[in-house]
Amino acid sequence: MWNYSFTIPSLLILAIIFCFYYFRPRLPIRINRTFLFLLTIDVFVVLFDWLSSHTDEFPESYHSWILWVLNLLFFAFFLLRIYGFFLFYMDILDLKVSDHLLLHRTAPILLALCELILISSPMTHAVFFIDTFGYHRGPLYNILYVCFGGYLLMAFILVALHRSGLSRYEFVSLLSSIMILVIGNIIRAIFPNMLIMDTFCMLSILVLFLTFQNPDRYLTDRGQAYNTKALRSLLNEWHPNHRYWFLGFAMKNYPELRAIFGGNQVDECIVQINQFLADSFPGALPFYLKNGCFTLVAAPSVSLNGVKETIQKRFLLPWKTSSGDLKPTLAFIQGDSSLKGFSADRLVNTLLVSMDSASRSASNEVHTLQDSMEKLERQMIVRRCLEKAIENDEVEVYLQPLVDCQTETVVAAEALARIREQNGDIIPPEEFISLAERDGQIVRLGEQVFRKVCAFLHEHQASFSCFRWINVNLSPLQCLQANLSDQFVRILHEFAISPSLIHFEITEQAMIDSDTLNNQMRALQKAGFQFALDDYGSGYSNLIRVSRYPFTNIKIDMSLVWSYAEHPSPLLPSMIQTFQEMHFSVTVEGIETREMADTFRELGCDFFQGYYYSPPIPMHDFIMKYGLSSEHGNSGATPVL
Ligand code: C2E
Ligand code: MG
Ligand code: MG
Repeated sequence: MWNYSFTIPSLLILAIIFCFYYFRPRLPIRINRTFLFLLTIDVFVVLFDWLSSHTDEFPESYHSWILWVLNLLFFAFFLLRIYGFFLFYMDILDLKVSDHLLLHRTAPILLALCELILISSPMTHAVFFIDTFGYHRGPLYNILYVCFGGYLLMAFILVALHRSGLSRYEFVSLLSSIMILVIGNIIRAIFPNMLIMDTFCMLSILVLFLTFQNPDRYLTDRGQAYNTKALRSLLNEWHPNHRYWFLGFAMKNYPELRAIFGGNQVDECIVQINQFLADSFPGALPFYLKNGCFTLVAAPSVSLNGVKETIQKRFLLPWKTSSGDLKPTLAFIQGDSSLKGFSADRLVNTLLVSMDSASRSASNEVHTLQDSMEKLERQMIVRRCLEKAIENDEVEVYLQPLVDCQTETVVAAEALARIREQNGDIIPPEEFISLAERDGQIVRLGEQVFRKVCAFLHEHQASFSCFRWINVNLSPLQCLQANLSDQFVRILHEFAISPSLIHFEITEQAMIDSDTLNNQMRALQKAGFQFALDDYGSGYSNLIRVSRYPFTNIKIDMSLVWSYAEHPSPLLPSMIQTFQEMHFSVTVEGIETREMADTFRELGCDFFQGYYYSPPIPMHDFIMKYGLSSEHGNSGATPVL
């Protein structure tokens, strides 16, 4: 009477999916619970389908109550299964309860009605009944198809409505899954004796499993941890209603470790760290994001500080790999569900950016995501002001005098860029220069500063008697431009300025890409420009390296200057002496007091720059203060103070 041939393989395949899904790590989120529910229900449906069909086939061998119970259970699970499919489709579409409140409230009504009619069958014989001849369909048997069709239709409409939120692959998979169920249902209606419906349900589950639920999609390939996609899914559901904290930590020396030990060794270390996190904190969910960045997420009942201390303690010891002991240093960043007003996606993005910058920061303090968010918010404002200033030619140039050490007269100046906030406040360069460098805007900014300096010199050159040049800062990124020298020479010609009036300041950091920089400098030198090495002592340059480039002036970084002013040591005097023996002139930055000026004059420096003489001031003020028409009369040659 019944053809069982499809049931056994379906049950076996289902069992494999079930075991695989059940025993792999799963995130505690709704969609995973729904899928497990669907799998479990489907196992029961297939089981009771097989049992009830078998007893229906041989009714004389069983008590009628056994037939009643098995058929009731089969139909009850059968109805529940289609509701399970529907719930899963809803979860995939990420329908928020508040968005589709009515649908969420009303969706179970159809199921409840059908189940009620089914349960009444022993009294009403509505869906089926058992008599002395065995199993028979009742007059309301078709409510099974109504229930099935109703939920599939709703799912189809929802998928079609939310198509834009799905990738093409996901959309096609969802439609295929629904169509497979429809086809299975039609075949069941036409050939009721073939138990093939379960096979179609299993196939539909397989499609959903492969597209959305394969646990490996959410696991990192480096040990026992979830990946970034999993963190997004988790916080998408948890944030901000669920109470939780997270602790991110980044390996600060990750690039160096990879360079020294190689990728495989570092990956081996990451696997060990993930294992350590999984073993040590069973109450927390471990995530490995990327580039040596880890995150733990846990409920407030788990102590964040306890977890942090355990991690710090463990990282005092090395991680042993096949080719040596690795000792990563860590930067921590923490936060919790109290961060309102941010989407989960933004939270994860900020966490990634913050971990990246924390891993590059020299400080070892624990950062909070709240601070990082505020920092990013500020960066966005600065970025907008920067774009506007560059676009509208509104970058301002301030000048800070460079003073001859012996005569204490202004002989040159450094041009320093300024931009303004909407309310007119100045944004300091430390906020916008690094951003401009990161966004590539520094090239346009640098050109604007250079052009304004040329315009200033063109107009006011004659206002100074002993004024000899203006220093313009040149960013490493500008140096990568092949036509930089041509471009600057064109601007010089435009304003009829001699190149000897411009000195470019290049920082130590720019000297990393040595060949390109050297070629660029030689081209600019040929055009008549001169160079100063900026911030000497803040990086790693040495004298041999410096001598390879056509610098004429060395500017000693403030940190060295201040440190000498506080604790004099023979290092700085001998450094200055060596520079002079190598025919470099020496500028000392950060002179803030009379005593500092006296001290460094005695050491034989050539030029001073510092607040003691003047902070950077607008070009207009500079002319008023130091120009020929100023109250000093000829301040280019008169002392500054
Ligand atoms: P920098 O080139 O080393 O410029 C000197 C910085 O030291 C200036 O900061 C100046 O205001 C500050 N300074 C000078 N004397 C003293 C002092 O006595 N005490 C203290 N505490 N500070 C002093 P500013 O203007 O904030 O510029 C910071 C950095 O931004 C500059 O350092 C330079 O690297 C960069 N920058 C500024 N304008 C430009 C530009 O147009 N292009 C490029 N590429 N970088 C720029
Ligand atoms: Mg400078
Ligand atoms: Mg400097």
